[in-house]
Parts: sequence; structure tokens; C-alpha cells
Amino acid sequence: MLKFVTVERGMPDKRAAETRRRDFHEIYAEYADEKAKEQAGRCSQCGVPYCQTHCPLHNNIPDWLRLTAEGRLQEAYELSQATNTFPEICGRICPQDRLCEGNCVIEKAGHGTVTIGAVEKYITDTAWEEGWVEPIAPRHERVESVGIIGAGPGGLAAADVLRRAGVQVTVYDRYDRGGGLMTYGIPGFKLEKDVVMRRMQQLQEGGVEFRLDCDVGTDLTFEEIRSKHNALLIATGVYKSRDLPGPGVGAQGIVRAIDYLTASNRVGFGDKVPEFESGELNAEGKRVVVVGGGDTAMDCVRTAVRQGAASVTCLYRRDRENMPGSQREVANAEEEGVEFQWLSAPKSFSGDPVKSVRVQQMRLGQPDATGRRTPEEIEGAEHEEPADLVIKALGFEPEDLPTLWNQKDLEVTRWGTIKAEFTSGRTAMEGVYAVGDIVRGASLVVWAIRDGRDAAAAILDDLGAAQAVAAE
Ligand SMILES: Cc1cc2nc3c(=O)[nH]c(=O)nc-3n(C[C@H](O)[C@H](O)[C@H](O)COP(=O)(O)OP(=O)(O)OC[C@H]3O[C@@H](n4cnc5c(N)ncnc54)[C@H](O)[C@@H]3O)c2cc1C
Ligand code: SF4
Repeated sequence: MLKFVTVERGMPDKRAAETRRRDFHEIYAEYADEKAKEQAGRCSQCGVPYCQTHCPLHNNIPDWLRLTAEGRLQEAYELSQATNTFPEICGRICPQDRLCEGNCVIEKAGHGTVTIGAVEKYITDTAWEEGWVEPIAPRHERVESVGIIGAGPGGLAAADVLRRAGVQVTVYDRYDRGGGLMTYGIPGFKLEKDVVMRRMQQLQEGGVEFRLDCDVGTDLTFEEIRSKHNALLIATGVYKSRDLPGPGVGAQGIVRAIDYLTASNRVGFGDKVPEFESGELNAEGKRVVVVGGGDTAMDCVRTAVRQGAASVTCLYRRDRENMPGSQREVANAEEEGVEFQWLSAPKSFSGDPVKSVRVQQMRLGQPDATGRRTPEEIEGAEHEEPADLVIKALGFEPEDLPTLWNQKDLEVTRWGTIKAEFTSGRTAMEGVYAVGDIVRGASLVVWAIRDGRDAAAAILDDLGAAQAVAAE
């Protein structure tokens, strides 16, 4: 049975904190067969599947919901995995309220959405438990080889498609584990790491070669990799953190979100993390201020709560309605005791190590060129917010790959993302493709999967392998 938990407001006593840690994924873990069938049976099979059109993978949602409702779980799984390389991951972390579920006809009619993501997760988790998930076993080996830089969802989805077609695939990644932001960015309470590692193992056992701890541009040059393979896919994501202006910003105790979340995820793996042990990247007992209003900021505040912070405050310079992060995540954070200060921006920082943040009150002014109202300072409206740890979560930009890799022919947009065709990932360089965040800017796992699958299809086509594979 699905159990609901009540949570108390304010920062935790020990029991309440334990209760709060039961986030929705833990609740989903108790999602019984009966509940999945009940939810799936709520689908009205409306004939206008807005859920499907708003899923970036165009998953055949109504059909696998119907099969689930009829108890034909294996068939439901077969159908769901036909369009999605990692359905159990998307079921856990897609912002369904903005995608499939937000466009469910029943939701629009005011009766509450069918919980599509939870059902997708349930049928794929069941498939793993029941042994229905097929290993990667190509019918014929092919001579062509493809190099993939980046083992995030974009690179891994492409590796899966290519390897199933018999292509020789090598994935290069600068981290010691694959998975990209699924491993070191997204917290474990949203996406359990064994779920990602299980997919890594499946790819490895299927013959994908991984060269981890290999930073392209330092350990190997781009040209070296390009010359080894018939095609090359760039799936490196975006990692340059946007910085804060303001006096005192260099003080000890003011850290980047990616470092904070990576340390927390490493600790979750059981790694020794000196910056966590020293307290530099550990929120325990601290007054934490997170700056930003996106999903990364929400992950930081919720991680800080779980680490036992004394208090957690989130500063965002616009209002609640105009924040980029998911409203569901804000509601979760609020339930866990996080205080949001809307229309608030840090102006300066005192102390080294940091002791407080000077907060400037803002209001929304005229719309800018994009139509978004610009935050403006309200003169004289300031206050001091005590802080022992400040986490900067202002978003990410692409690294300058043409310079880092000495590839001036690698065309980039004015935002620094790689110029590539959206439907194929083809770039201006012959035989070089690009997918995921490095093309779209910071986006979503499900879009990276979609791009990876599309680019793999284009690579097979360009290598002349697509017809042979189809005929097998
Ligand atoms: C904190 C956080 C939370 C998020 N939460 C969600 C969520 O809940 N739901 C969701 O859908 N999306 C979420 N996202 C976004 C999502 O994680 C990304 O959109 C997605 O991972 C992008 O996939 P990718 O394959 O393009 O890149 P990445 O996942 O970033 O993977 C890129 C890989 O390339 C490697 N790499 C980079 N440069 C090099 C190099 N020079 N040499 C070798 N390897 C290199 C990196 O080490 C990395 O492993 C979140 C992002 C963050 C930061
Ligand atoms: S992949 Fe994401 S958007 Fe598509 S059905 Fe699954 S949860 Fe919904």
C-alpha cells in the first residue's frame, strides 16, 4: 500500500527528521502491484495522448498503462523499454509535472494525474527483479568503432544503441565512475546510485569499453581519440558554474553546488572525501544559505537538511511563480523545513570563514528582451542573514571546448554550446556528433537520452550500418 506521511514544520527534532527523510521515492518503493494497476487503470485511453506527445521520448504511455492495468507487466515493460533506454531512471527523476503528467487529460479535468512516472519506474524495477531485462548481446560484431566522450545519460544511451547494433564502443570519462550527473549531481534520495551502477554494469557486460579517469584534453587529446574511431560523439555536459558577484565572495565556507553535491554523492558511495570530513563540504550543524532558484538549488537545500544542518535558507531574486525549479521540489523542501526568502539576493558576505550574508530585497521590474521581468533592488531594504555555509547554485555554462581541445573547427553557439543538428547530433566536423547538455545547455536526463538515441541512429546511418542492422 502507498503510505502517506505527515511532516512537521520547523527544523527537526530527531524523530521528525527521520520522518522527513521518507521522500516520495521511498514512498514509491512501497508502491504495490495493486497500486500500480489501480493508477494505470485510471488512464481514460483518451485517444489524444497529450502525455505521449509531451514525453520527450514519445513513450507509448497509454498502451503500457493498459497492459499494466491488465496485469501484463512483462509486455508493459517490453513496450516501455522500446522507446526509453533507462525507464526506471526517468520514472524516478523526470519532472513529470512539466512533461507527461502535467498534460494528462485527467489532470487537466481536475481529477489528479495518473502517476505515469511511478508506474514506469514500477514496471522496470519489476523487470529487473524478474530477470526480464535482456543483456546487450549483438547478433553480429561489426568492425566500425565509435568513441564517446562523456558517460552521462546522453553518451550511455548512444552507447547502448550502438553496441546492440554490434558496433565497437569506447566511452571516455574524466570521472572515476560513469553516469555523469546521474551519479555525481543528482542526490541519492532522488535517484539511488545502485540503479545507475546497474546500468553501467549492463553496458560493460554487453561489451562497451569504459576508459574512466580519462580527461579528454589532458590525458588524451581530441585528435588522438578521433583518429582511433570511425565516428566520435561528444556528450560532455555543462560544468562551468556561474559565479556570484559581491564583496567577500571568496571567503572560506562559500562553495559551488557541484562540489557540494559531488562530495555528498561520493560519501554515499562510501568514498573517503577529505573536504567532507574537514567540514568544508558538510552542512551538519551549520546555518546554511543556498543561493539560486533552480532544481540544483532544491537538491542542495534538501541535501543540507539530510546532513543535519541547523537551519537551511534559500535566497532567490525573483518570486515563487517565476522560479525555474519545479514547484513540487519547493513544496518538498518546505515540508522538510527549508525557509525560502523570495525576491532576495546576496549583496555581500562578512567574515572569513563566512559568518553572514547581506541580503538585498528585490522587486520585479519591467520585462527584459525575453519577456521575463527583471529583478530590481529596493533601496535601503537589506538585512543580515547568519551563515556558516553558503552554496552557490546559479546554474551551469559550457566549458570552452574548442579552446580546451584546440579544435577551432568545432563550431559553438553564442552561448558556448556545440552547434549540432537537434535530430541527428551531426556537427560541422565530419564524423563528429554531439548530444545532451553540451548542445542544449543545462537540460534534463530524458532529453539527453533522446539525443543519444537519435545520434546513435544517425551514426549507424552514416557508417552505412543501419540497413545491415535492420536486415538482421
Ligand atoms: C544537481 C542537479 C540535479 C539535476 N536533477 C535532475 C532531475 O531531477 N531530473 C532531470 O531530468 N535532470 C536533472 N538534472 C539535469 C541532468 O542531470 C542533465 O541534463 C543530464 O545529466 C545531461 O546529460 P549529459 O549526458 O548531457 O551530461 P552529463 O550527465 O553532465 O555527463 C557528462 C559526462 O561527461 C564527462 N566529461 C565532461 N568533460 C569531459 C572531458 N573533457 N573528458 C572526459 N569526460 C568528460 C563528465 O565527467 C560527465 O560524466 C540535474 C542536474 C544537476 C546539476
Ligand atoms: S520518460 Fe519522463 S516524460 Fe516520458 S513518460 Fe517517463 S516520466 Fe514521463
